[in-house]
Amino acid sequence: MRILFIFSTFSCKYSKKSISFVSLLLETKKYAMKTLKPDISFHLYDYEELSEEDRQLIDAAKKATYQSYAPYSHFMVGAAAKLANGEIVCGSNQENAAYPSGTCAERTTLFYANSTYPDVVVETIAIAARHNNDEFTPHPTAPCGACRQVMLETQWRNKKPLRTLLYGEEGVLEVTCVEDLLPLCFNASCM
Ligand SMILES: [Zn+2]
Repeated sequence: MRILFIFSTFSCKYSKKSISFVSLLLETKKYAMKTLKPDISFHLYDYEELSEEDRQLIDAAKKATYQSYAPYSHFMVGAAAKLANGEIVCGSNQENAAYPSGTCAERTTLFYANSTYPDVVVETIAIAARHNNDEFTPHPTAPCGACRQVMLETQWRNKKPLRTLLYGEEGVLEVTCVEDLLPLCFNASCM
């Protein structure tokens, strides 16, 4: 592992981070102004440093890019989710001429996992992307905001941290819970 970014304290419902954002806001109301820094960490690995299981999941995400339908963006994205029952389910981005009608690889994968195995925890999701050739992106590809929200809901539903592996040819970023990808997140506790 090469890099670990850590800031200060924030909330992560299903991780060791315990202070909720709402309580932090309420606590700080009495102050005129305060800067809050989320406690976020990303772990950067070389592909070879990962466990065989993680490498297999990334390889499945890379393979899934070849099932992508991306005639508009020419950006082929694949995702692979490892479930608690040992299953690996994959998905890819599926575009549409009516642009909002398409969906991303992450959501294709999670909706498939959650609808096929509704009671099984999704433990890890790996994401890889390439352009219209066989060359994968040099840097890790991050999920879009909408996918982060669906990842958050999956984690919330599973009551277990959903780990994410973002593949790049030059390194793999590991994020151990979705709140680290989506600070100030909206979830059921906000309602
Ligand atoms: Zn997305």
